[in-house]
Amino acid sequence: MMNRVQTIRSIKSNPKTTALIIGAGINGIGTFRDLALQGVDCLIIDRSDFCSGASMASSHMLHGGIRYLENGEFRLVREALRERNKLLRNAPHLTHPLPTTIPIFKWFSGLFNSPLKFLGLLDRPAERGAVIIKLGLMMYDAYVRGDSPMPRHRFDNRDKVLRKWPALNQDIRFAATYYDGGMYSPERLAIEILLDGEAEGDHARALNYIRPVRSEGNEVLLRDEISGEEYSVIPDIIINAGGPWIDFINNEINGKSNFIGGTKGSHLIVKHPELREAIDGHEIFFEYLDGRIVLIFPYLQDHVMIGTTDIRIDNPDQAVCTETEIEYILGMVPQIFPSLKVTREQIVFQFSGVRPLPVTKGSTGQISRDHSIEVLEKSPQTPWPILNLVGGKWTSYRALSEQVADQVLDRLNQARQASTSRLPIGGGKDYPADAYKQQTWLKNIAKKSGVPLGRIKQLFARYGTRTTEIADFLAKNPDSSLKHLPGYSQGEITYLVEQEMVTHLDDFLIRRSKLAWINQVSIDSITELAGIVGEELNWDDTKKQQEINRTCEILEKRHGVVL
Ligand SMILES: Cc1cc2nc3c(=O)[nH]c(=O)nc-3n(C[C@H](O)[C@H](O)[C@H](O)COP(=O)(O)OP(=O)(O)OC[C@H]3O[C@@H](n4cnc5c(N)ncnc54)[C@H](O)[C@@H]3O)c2cc1C
Repeated sequence: MMNRVQTIRSIKSNPKTTALIIGAGINGIGTFRDLALQGVDCLIIDRSDFCSGASMASSHMLHGGIRYLENGEFRLVREALRERNKLLRNAPHLTHPLPTTIPIFKWFSGLFNSPLKFLGLLDRPAERGAVIIKLGLMMYDAYVRGDSPMPRHRFDNRDKVLRKWPALNQDIRFAATYYDGGMYSPERLAIEILLDGEAEGDHARALNYIRPVRSEGNEVLLRDEISGEEYSVIPDIIINAGGPWIDFINNEINGKSNFIGGTKGSHLIVKHPELREAIDGHEIFFEYLDGRIVLIFPYLQDHVMIGTTDIRIDNPDQAVCTETEIEYILGMVPQIFPSLKVTREQIVFQFSGVRPLPVTKGSTGQISRDHSIEVLEKSPQTPWPILNLVGGKWTSYRALSEQVADQVLDRLNQARQASTSRLPIGGGKDYPADAYKQQTWLKNIAKKSGVPLGRIKQLFARYGTRTTEIADFLAKNPDSSLKHLPGYSQGEITYLVEQEMVTHLDDFLIRRSKLAWINQVSIDSITELAGIVGEELNWDDTKKQQEINRTCEILEKRHGVVL
């Protein structure tokens, strides 16, 4: 695998590539890995860090999307459920089954709204009662009968529900519990998929902080956002995986399009042990006062994620969580848990992103969440076909990527050589299946590497079976615990900077680790980290200070974290 400097050198000496993928969110990254596996020469670039757009702003659910059934999106739900199950199998270290509970306050309500919504005769959300939810969950189960690693749904009556969740609103009549999937770190999952693609060989190259600035003939001119340098690539096909920025990117390379009509969604992470205890490890998925479906998601340690909003937005660069959204989100909890209040002081992180939805009119909740590949064929201005990846769910990225790769293979007259369907991801390879096997595996690695068992367990929880390589690295290189970040060591950070293209300090704090999301940042820890990352990337004191300032600014302006 090449590092950033080597990849840039390789582009300068060999600017030709079969497929240029612009945008390294999950859809670009998934396509990159699939094409790399087929031996197709490909280059993926992102103007920012990997997985820093919509893919970082998701509700962290791997789900079929029970809500989409009422919009008639049966194909999408069936595909997403299958993909959910595949992700749980292929990346067990970074995904988990997520018990999800819908509190229900009515019997029949909503029964007639769904067909009306489906026929386009009703565009406002209306309260869903027990019968409609039961029907939805029966379909949900039926779609994955015989292929689900998780139990089927169940309905519990009021008494049982209040015994399990005593803090729930006492007006409750039933609760429906079913299983979906969750992930704590979409960013780590995405980077591991990218690394798998890169590991296929030098024909698969990846770069963050590079953007296209214009095209000249068949050349696309790229600008390095770190050095300011410009260099060209000559692709045969362009894959525009810019998510909500797709139309902006086409514009930059002489193409014209109007595919995206994105909506903004914001979430809060709160540190709230009582709320974490009240939900008892379940995601609570419920209808808010305005009829929208919202969620309370059990996050890391005693943190809880609450969201989301759905607001039309023209320029995705302007997506931040506003004061009005914060008020709206804070109001969700007391509706379901009347005795629990969430205050602003309990917010530790906020984030916002734009769903790359297709342009449509009507209410935001009814816009299709399905994906499509919109092709702009060659023209005198754009002498390469541009495949635009519109819409889609994080959950079903693999299916979309496979469809894109198939279209590319068709155009190249090449046959598919490998499938990603059952291919383990990163540290999910050779993952010890049960607790006993895990213990044996961990002890073995500790013995072989000489790294203490406690530390091996910590690494395993973060990186799965990639722990083998990391433990090896720690054993061979100087290592010491960090003073201001317990649980991390200098060697571990150095390894991630070397192997995972950490380019800015915030790449590590927000995406390679979840430290910023759970209130584990301070000026001291940022300064300590800047020393280690800076040592690896040859930063002088001025550059280190610039990185510290940049990180503080991003944390404050984008995530509401004031240090
Ligand atoms: C609020 C919200 C909640 C969601 N919840 C869920 C959920 O729970 N489960 C689920 O399955 N899905 C969910 N989704 C949907 C899912 O997250 C997105 O559909 C998916 O991440 C889109 O990925 P993408 O790769 O197409 O786009 P993105 O992740 O946005 O990637 C596009 C990339 O293009 C880059 N880029 C932009 N301009 C340029 C340029 N000029 N040059 C180079 N690169 C550029 C950006 O930096 C970005 O990294 C949610 C989405 C949102 C916004």
